[in-house]
Amino acid sequence: MKAKAIRMTRTGGPEVLEYVDVEVGEPGPGEARVRQHAIGLNFIDVYFRTGLYPMPLPSGLGQEGAGVVEAVGEGVTHVAPGDRVVYAGRPNGAYSALRTMPADILVRLPDAIGFETAAAMMLQGLTVQYLFNGTCQVKPGQTILFHAAAGGVGLIACQWARALGVNLIGTVGSKEKAALATAAGAAHVINYNEEDIVARVLEITDGAKLPVVYDSVGKDTFIHSLDCLQPRGLMVSFGNSSGAVPPFSLGELAARGSLYITRPSLAAYTATRAELEARAADLFAMVESGKVRIDIRQRFPLAEAAAAHTALEARRTTGSTILLP
Ligand code: NDP
Repeated sequence: MKAKAIRMTRTGGPEVLEYVDVEVGEPGPGEARVRQHAIGLNFIDVYFRTGLYPMPLPSGLGQEGAGVVEAVGEGVTHVAPGDRVVYAGRPNGAYSALRTMPADILVRLPDAIGFETAAAMMLQGLTVQYLFNGTCQVKPGQTILFHAAAGGVGLIACQWARALGVNLIGTVGSKEKAALATAAGAAHVINYNEEDIVARVLEITDGAKLPVVYDSVGKDTFIHSLDCLQPRGLMVSFGNSSGAVPPFSLGELAARGSLYITRPSLAAYTATRAELEARAADLFAMVESGKVRIDIRQRFPLAEAAAAHTALEARRTTGSTILLP
């Protein structure tokens, strides 16, 4: 059966994303065919498109979608034809109206959550869930630093932190983004294009600095993030929006007082079915309670995925972005 999808035969700029007809096969053992209603756009898609994260080519792209199961292959019991589902994770190929994919990452969607919200929230929301409840356990009253606070992951993090009673200091690149992060619950906002991150953190914390920093910006912020940490603080380096963090000496951690560092990935925190379902249930509960509202601020037709990538990389998007088949 044929479907419209994005394919790429080489890595490069947004122009390598081609909108084409693809053949979608019957699901084999462990697979399901999903009719997609909405697709999530994530910064990881940029890394695969540019080649920062390697993948075999030609390939589809995209790691997140929501829709209805049309058919399942042998051995699939946790979802059935007609089920509303959502997923986040590999293999790439979510930029498609219809796809046959491994069923093990599919999660049944509560009736109260629509497809667009689901596709916008799963990857970014599960990320915030595990960053705050897995990588370390953030605690009420704690002050933390979270970079790119007006982005997709960022606006969810602001709201989740507020719900937990955590004081989130968010960094952003513009005045408009500062207003969005504040409205979403950031206790303090630093515009890192105009202000010195470390000086502002020292000021906000009366010199105490922070127990944990969440840094998805990477190259541009890495050293400043280390400088914001208390002795024995935790650096969570979870992305590379400005470029990969260059190799560094472990002595940098000792010099700042025995810092810890981790480079986590969602896959490692959803590796078993039980862990995936538990984290997804927590995310669904946060969204259904209204404590976290998924702010879809950009919608693009799937055919215009390249334009969506251009906007994301140029820092013109805020909150979450979806592609519509
Ligand atoms: P965002 O919507 O947050 O977009 C990225 C933001 O990063 C931009 O809007 C921009 O905000 C900021 N940024 C800073 N420097 C640059 C730069 N040079 N080029 C582009 N953007 C820059 O994306 P997502 O919500 O999809 O993802 C946020 C980050 O989290 C990404 O780095 C992503 O890879 C990471 N991530 C990691 C996961 C993991 O498990 N490890 C899972 C999910 C996401 P501003 O203008 O305010 O600076």
